[in-house]
Amino acid sequence: MNCTILAVGTELLMGQTVNTNAAFLSQELNELGINVLFHITVGDNPHRLDKMLNNALENSDMIITTGGLGPTQDDLTKEIIAKALGRKLHLHRPTYGKLESFFKRLNREMTNNNIKQAYLPDNSIILENNAGTAPGFIIEEREKVIISLPGPPKEMKSIYFDSVKPYLQRKSEYTIKSKLLKFVGIGESSLENVLVDLISNQTNPTLATYAKDGELTLRITAKGNSHEEIDSLINPIVKEVESRLKEYIYSYRGEVLEEVVVNMLLSKNLTLSLAESCTGGLLSSKLTSVSGVSKVFDRGIVTYSNTSKSEELGVRESTLRTYGAVSKETAMEMALGIKRASGTDISLSITGVAGPTGGSPEKPVGLIYIGIATDSSSYVKKLNLTGDRNKIRNYTTIAALNLIRKTIQEEY
Ligand code: ATP
Ligand code: MG
Repeated sequence: MNCTILAVGTELLMGQTVNTNAAFLSQELNELGINVLFHITVGDNPHRLDKMLNNALENSDMIITTGGLGPTQDDLTKEIIAKALGRKLHLHRPTYGKLESFFKRLNREMTNNNIKQAYLPDNSIILENNAGTAPGFIIEEREKVIISLPGPPKEMKSIYFDSVKPYLQRKSEYTIKSKLLKFVGIGESSLENVLVDLISNQTNPTLATYAKDGELTLRITAKGNSHEEIDSLINPIVKEVESRLKEYIYSYRGEVLEEVVVNMLLSKNLTLSLAESCTGGLLSSKLTSVSGVSKVFDRGIVTYSNTSKSEELGVRESTLRTYGAVSKETAMEMALGIKRASGTDISLSITGVAGPTGGSPEKPVGLIYIGIATDSSSYVKKLNLTGDRNKIRNYTTIAALNLIRKTIQEEY
């Protein structure tokens, strides 16, 4: 089965809203083995919408529209779809009831505009919206399927997971399952090189790599008649990948690195403290995005100036003078300083040149030192990163998280 995603909304064409709905749906459909052939974006214009809809009907088995299901005048997706398929809209009582109680609860009057949302195409499958008021719907027309979802991403995703995904899974003649392996400390092209024979020769399962924000994912997707059959296809591939790249794998479930690190700290009952310079608290921020981290994360301080490095962490002025703030020596004293102050099991420091200014021939942009101290060891890792300020800061936090991960693996 193949699909066109048709996003409706003038604000998308104006560049005011990024079409994240299409990206989300494409990823989800791919996982179900449905090929997305086209992304079409059209404004809130009935003629052009009608034209694009007919075009998509001609060129694909399934169309998913998002947007234009709301109460306002410019919301006309439903009306155009009904017209294109020669169907009428009728009042859907359960939706009307839901709207009525929604407005009663808010103590607001329900206008004709709002009632418009309860009118849905004849003979369609109504998809309840648990995150908003406008329901979605599915129309099956001869061999084609049209699925229409509201624009707000929260509502679209909610309906997708509640109703659309189960519907598509029921429709498919086989089951599809993916396993996500996540890697750190290796680049995408090296990963592909090591796995090139598997990637190019496999048809079931298929292997694909994705890189985003310094996180590297390998998706292994298989289809079969049962979960057991699929597992028997996926597991040997996982074993093969492991035999080549085990040290770089940090998750078999698609988690982000900070989640893995926090869970390791939790399971080993270890505490952590940080002293950040050029990342300005980014690592603390990432770690504290993980729920449950309070049990293991003691403190993270940002010591940006030389004075603060001395005052807060006890970095010697002579060290700063002789080696500079961006140096192995300073990173080491920062890590030991925060360890002394906090008494945590693991302490980590970051100092470097994030750029684009501030680099020199001896200390170029992208030069980073990460110090780590535990009860039994302390050392400093030097990195030479490339890219803009954001990229350098982000990669630094990933390298730091990986260092914590490895330290826990090796020492605890
Ligand atoms: P509503 O009831 O909120 O009017 P709707 O189904 O009519 O819902 P739209 O009016 O088209 O949807 O869009 C509502 C909001 O949803 C937009 O302002 C935008 O913020 C967001 N949105 C719409 N389409 C997309 C999209 N393709 N990707 C990301 N966000 C979107
Ligand atoms: Mg709208």
